Order: sequence, then structure tokens, then C-alpha cells
Amino acid sequence: MRKLRRLLFRLLLFALIIIIGIMIIRTLNFSSKQIQDIEAIKLFPLEKKSIEHLAQAIQIPTISNNIDSSAYRNFDTLLQRTYLQVHQELERTVINEFSYIYKWAGTNPRLEPILLMGHSDVVPVEEASRDRWDADPFGGQIDENLLYGRGTLDDKINIIGILEACEKMLQEGFAPTRDIYFAFGHDEEVLGKYGAKAIVQYFKDNNLRFEYVLDEGQMVLNKAMGGLEQPLAMIGISEKGYATLTLTAQLEDGGHSSMPPPETAVSTLTKAINTLVEHPFPMKVDGATAALFEHVGPEMTIFNKTLFANLWLTKGLIKSQLSKDPAASAIMRTTTAPTMLRGGVKENVLPTRASAKINFRIIPGETVESVKAYVEDVINDKRIIVQIDDPENSTDPAPLSSTDSFGFRVLQRTIKEIFPEAVVAPSLVIAATDSRYYVDVSDNIYRFQPLQLDRSDLKRFHGINEAISLDNYQKAINFYYQLIKNSSK
Ligand SMILES: [Zn+2]
Repeated sequence: MRKLRRLLFRLLLFALIIIIGIMIIRTLNFSSKQIQDIEAIKLFPLEKKSIEHLAQAIQIPTISNNIDSSAYRNFDTLLQRTYLQVHQELERTVINEFSYIYKWAGTNPRLEPILLMGHSDVVPVEEASRDRWDADPFGGQIDENLLYGRGTLDDKINIIGILEACEKMLQEGFAPTRDIYFAFGHDEEVLGKYGAKAIVQYFKDNNLRFEYVLDEGQMVLNKAMGGLEQPLAMIGISEKGYATLTLTAQLEDGGHSSMPPPETAVSTLTKAINTLVEHPFPMKVDGATAALFEHVGPEMTIFNKTLFANLWLTKGLIKSQLSKDPAASAIMRTTTAPTMLRGGVKENVLPTRASAKINFRIIPGETVESVKAYVEDVINDKRIIVQIDDPENSTDPAPLSSTDSFGFRVLQRTIKEIFPEAVVAPSLVIAATDSRYYVDVSDNIYRFQPLQLDRSDLKRFHGINEAISLDNYQKAINFYYQLIKNSSK
């Protein structure tokens, strides 16, 4: 007996040594995926007139959920008046009145063109929150290095940043090798049907394909992850899908609420919703999220580096840690959000019908159909009818763009030149962007905007005190300038 115990102890010890050995070897081999030897660019200064241009763009309320044509016309006039050389030398195509495509012809027609995106529309300012702003949301005011207003982050900064860079390059006599396209939609915040969708149709009709497409979606974030001291520049290589399902409980009998049966339409429905919420979709570490960990892991402090180098052993631990943070959880699973309820006509009448809407953000690897099947399976109640709400606006997750492509490498290099301390990593975008329409015209779609923000700044998007620092604005112009140059090599 003692012999057996000793043998077992030795075996365990041996196994432990092997595991520790593997962990050490894997950690040592967990090498950096950052491109080395990139020198930071000396930024050109932000001119006073550039600041005025952005402020003027912010002053025009191009709000897309209630389109005011005169605002959009004013915005167009501003662009044409401000960027004279752009409008003389680039070919411009107008799509559905207020969306624009610009073509900057390159010197080498054999190279595939690239496309930089932006959108001119903004979300409205909630009336009840207006007095909580530190400045007029449509005033373009500057206070202590911050330029305030709707569109400073989302997304006029990109349009103005691109055009400022382009105008400067034209003045300097720069000629790109490949064709450079800009596409500025005007209704991204309301699903992009007349902007991005129509723009892509134009490209398809003209048989145009792009080496890479760059849209908004991710940025450089300070203190993005525990165990990572450097800022994290994320390049979105995929984005989650979107679907809303309607659950309807349909019961045969209604009746009087003074003698209720054990179950009513309302209780059947709420039971189904609870079951669903209690059975979240499984967490997965693959695709863009696995790529994120592979790029971030080697740059982390030693403890975290060891964890990420040994996902074969630590996956469960990492999942359970990250699942506590809704933002981290959202990049690893399809999320379930019950958002609307309807049922009953009067408080003393038992309803025969009750319905709910549940919003899902779908992780790559799953689809709108597979989500529906999962929901039916989990609820497992014939009295609940599950339907896809508004199928036209349901989208499967975007395919994964490569991290070995020309576009990814150029972005990696340019980010390092402008944000030298940042760790650059691919990632999954959890919201929907206009770029989802572009899958038919490019294999390499990336989502990144050149802004360096704190986590606390993220609530400025669509929120109170949307504002951009002048440092960020300077970097944005420099970034596009450098990106166009690097893409021309
Ligand atoms: Zn946006």
C-alpha cells in the first residue's frame, strides 16, 4: 500500500514537472508579433486653419434619423470650399444626393486600389441630457485642448482627417501609385441603406475591387486589458452579426383573471426568457479573439504572458475571469439581450398572446439561423413561436480578414509610426459598421480609427460631451497622410 502511494506521488510529481516544463517552454517561445524597428514619425504640426475646419464641420447638424437636406447641403458646401485642390484633382461621384465617392488616380493602374471610409451623419443629442454637456454639442467650441461636439469622434473626424491629409499631399505634389478611393456615407447611424449600401452597389456595377478597405470601429485604448501596460491599438478584422428574434407565447385559453390557470401567455413567455438568459451562448476563444490574445499575450507582464501562452491549460480560467466583464465577455460569445415585451390588453383579462423581442450580437462561427436554432432548442416549448424579426436587417458575422495581407501590414506599420508605444493587435468589433456592406468588394476589411482614448472616453460616443483632443486630431491627420504614403510603396 505504501509502495503504491509512493508510486502515485512520484507519478503526480512527474506530471507536474512535465506541465510546468511545457508552460515554461511555451512562454519562452511566445514571441512578439509586433513589427520591429519602426521609427516614430515626427508629426507635422496641427495648423490653426485645420482646427477651424473641424469646428465648422461640427457646427453643421447632419443628423440622419431625421434628415435635414439643408444641413447636408451646407456640409457639402463646406467640403468643397475648404478642400479646393481635392475637389479640383479628384474625381467625385455623388450617391443618393449626400454620399460621396472620391477617386484619387494613381500612377500604376496594375495595382489594386484601396478605400478609406467615413460617414458624415451623427446621432442626435438627447434633449434631457443637453444641460449636462460642457459645451454646445453643435458649437465646435474648444476648451482646454478639447474640441467638443457631435461627430468629433464619430465620425466627422475621419472625413476631415482624410481630406486634410489629402489636401496637404496634393499641395506638396504627392502622386499615389495605386488609386486611392474615399467613400463617405451619410446614413451610417440609421443602417446605411442609402449611403454605404448604395456606394457598394456602385462599386459592384463598375467591377471595382479593393486591396483593402478601412472603416471606423476600433482605436488605440489606454489600459485596455489587465496585465498590459502599453496602449492597445486594435484593428477590427471581423465584426459581430446582428439579429433580433421575436418570441411569441400563444395559448389556447384566455379567461378571467379571478380563476387563472397555472400558466398564462405572460408566465409562459417570461419563463422562456428566463431559461434563455440562464443559458447564455457558449464562450469561445477563436478567430479574431484568439488572434487578439496571440498578439497581446507576448507583450504582457510575465504572469499574464504565461497564462496566454498556455491557453491549452488556462482557457477555462481566462474565460471565467473575462466573463465577469461585459466588454470582454462580448468578444467571446453571442450575447442575449431581452429588450421589449408586449402582452395583455387589460389588467383583469388573461392574455392568450404575449411576445418579446430579444436582441443578439452574433459571434463569428455562428449565424442568424444557428442562433434561432439554439434559442428554440434551449426554450424547448412548442407554445413559443420563434421568428426572425426584420430579416433584411439581420446580418451574419463578417468574415475574418487576414493578418498577413498588405493592408494589415501597412496599418500595423502606420500605427506604430504614429502611436509608437502601442501594441498592435487584430480584434473583433462588437458593434455594426458600414463596412459590413463591403464584403463583396474586398477580402481585407479593417476597422480602425486613429484616436488614442481612455476607457472612460468610450461613453462619449453617442453620449454626453463627445469631444476630441487636439493631440488626437493632429495624430489623425498625420495617420492618414502616412497611411496613404505607406500604401503607395
Ligand atoms: Zn460611426
